[in-house]
Amino acid sequence: MDFYFDNAATTPVSERALEEYERVSRIVYGNPSSNHRLGTRAKALLEEKRESVASQLGVGKENIIFTSGATEAVALFTESLLWLDKGTIVMSRIEHEAVSSWAKFLEKSGWNVVKIRARGGFVSPSELKDALTPDTKAVFIMSVNNVTGAIEPVEELVKSVREYEKEHGRKILFFSDSVQALGKTGLDLRKWDVDGASFSAHKINGPRGIGMLYVKNPSIIHPLAAAGGQEGGRRGGTENLPAIAAFECALSEWMENRAEREKKTGEIRAYIKTELEKMGINVFSPDNSSPYILSVEAPLPSEVFTRMLMDKGFCVSSGSACSNNRKGKTEGILEAMGIDNRRAGKAVRISLSKDTSLSDAEALVKAFGELLNGKAPVSDKRR
Ligand code: PLP
Repeated sequence: MDFYFDNAATTPVSERALEEYERVSRIVYGNPSSNHRLGTRAKALLEEKRESVASQLGVGKENIIFTSGATEAVALFTESLLWLDKGTIVMSRIEHEAVSSWAKFLEKSGWNVVKIRARGGFVSPSELKDALTPDTKAVFIMSVNNVTGAIEPVEELVKSVREYEKEHGRKILFFSDSVQALGKTGLDLRKWDVDGASFSAHKINGPRGIGMLYVKNPSIIHPLAAAGGQEGGRRGGTENLPAIAAFECALSEWMENRAEREKKTGEIRAYIKTELEKMGINVFSPDNSSPYILSVEAPLPSEVFTRMLMDKGFCVSSGSACSNNRKGKTEGILEAMGIDNRRAGKAVRISLSKDTSLSDAEALVKAFGELLNGKAPVSDKRR
């Protein structure tokens, strides 16, 4: 068995979520759009799950649109902007590719895209305000960065946008990709006053291929495919009810005792951080970061060091799993926070889950120590 420290990339499906997936697949198999008894039952369960998810996020059920994941949730929101008159989009330079990859497309479609940096890992509300112009239509700033774990000051960032709105008498949409925040750090969509946010189940022990879009005003959403008018006409296609039910189940598990878990994981992360620092390893993650993500500077290039850790049975990531497909992406995010390219190329991301134990962390620290002392990999009885 491997020691898994790549939970920001994905997580194993929990037992409860898997059971719920199976139960719904077997028993509530009607199509929610069918008018017979099984269809009505499926529709009722779909709405029950929507209600539960919405109430756990403190929003209305009409504000939740289930999608195939966060990437689709971002796409649904962003494509809807194309129905507006062209203008400027402001996005941070530390966005996940689910957001940042839209920049090129938007530019090709005649939009202006302005990217703002995140000095020390954080976007500054005053810098954001300075970047706004009379033709800014939307702002994209994530809640928690997937590479460093930096918790962005979303509430303050939205406030500076709302101030600008008032001064100029026009609406600017604020979207926050909140995948790494869900269940893991404080999240208050209503208080933050964001217009949209994306979420994914597989980062919190739910299944792959299911996520959701929160949208404050659903009428701004134009479906990518209208199809049968599902999800209030905003997202066509038969709803993935087993996955939605399993997502709701996984979310409930993460929300139970969230603060307690956050504290426990924070302590484990602090232990790893302190021990690695004692070995002379630099930490890239800024102070106000998620308890679930720690980015450090390895003594060797990331690909080499992550491979050496893997040989000892430790799964970590050189930045983020998605960025592994595209060289240089993680470096780009670290550079945006002021870290030079050479150091950024040595980034290793250690990402924890609510189930990471202190003994797993101790084993990881020990492995770092052995590699730093040039010891040969030891055979690991857990593999
Ligand atoms: N946004 C962030 C911050 C992520 O970490 C991820 C997952 O890697 C995504 C978006 C994409 O999520 P999904 O896999 O559900 O499309």
